[in-house]
Amino acid sequence: MNLIFLGPPGAGKGTQAQRLEKEAGARQLSTGDMLREAVASGSEIGRRAKAIMDKGELVSDEVVIGIVGERLGQERQGFILDGFPRTVAQAEALDRLLAEKKLKLDRVVEFAVDDEALVDRLSGRFNCKSCGAMYHDRHKRPKVAGLCDRCGGREFLRRPDDNPETIRTRLAAYARQTAPLLPYYRGKGLLLTVDGMADIAQVAGLIDRALGQKG
Ligand code: ADP
Ligand code: ADP
Ligand code: ZN
Repeated sequence: MNLIFLGPPGAGKGTQAQRLEKEAGARQLSTGDMLREAVASGSEIGRRAKAIMDKGELVSDEVVIGIVGERLGQERQGFILDGFPRTVAQAEALDRLLAEKKLKLDRVVEFAVDDEALVDRLSGRFNCKSCGAMYHDRHKRPKVAGLCDRCGGREFLRRPDDNPETIRTRLAAYARQTAPLLPYYRGKGLLLTVDGMADIAQVAGLIDRALGQKG
């Protein structure tokens, strides 16, 4: 299945995309991860993107569409777009890319979460340095303290943009630039909304049921 996960920063998109990747073999395509890789590589695009990401604003449509265009279409068991599209221009570009590559979008899953919960989730977020597995100080601790459940790694990272000031800018960018995608996909009959306020296991069940995979 080819899916888009849509929702504000901290809504749980990455957590659920990682799970579906493991359980269903679909490939998670996170533009945030791709941009952080570009930053780490020290490329010109990465240098310019870093300044924008540190402020919590959106990287230009042109750059992001270019990155997705290079990646999309190599998945054997479907993709989950996580964090893309984030503007109507990106959604329109995605429609063109999908048509060119003869791919079809099956569903857009919206994660509905209150702003206060988002601040709490982003403030406590950290991930494994070697495998990227996602954790939270209170909501999802590693089973053995200091050890990654998935790969046994001992080093963890916190994102520089998960600070209160940048979080506010990111939430405002979502409301202004990304929320208009909800009516865009509702109009195409693709939008499914899940209650992202439930706990991680419950959200997983809601998604599976909504997609008709299980239960
Ligand atoms: P997004 O990819 O939408 O920005 P993440 O999947 O990174 O969101 O989740 C943000 C933080 O919230 C992470 O620390 C994650 O462990 C935690 N989290 C994810 N889903 C839930 C949930 N349903 N309830 C509580 N915490 C959650
Ligand atoms: P989160 O899911 O926690 O909001 P992401 O990892 O998706 O964070 O994105 C981190 C940052 O990368 C964003 O704040 C933005 O600067 C940039 N970014 C990621 N995806 C896009 C996109 N589709 N368009 C523009 N900027 C993006
Ligand atoms: Zn790990």
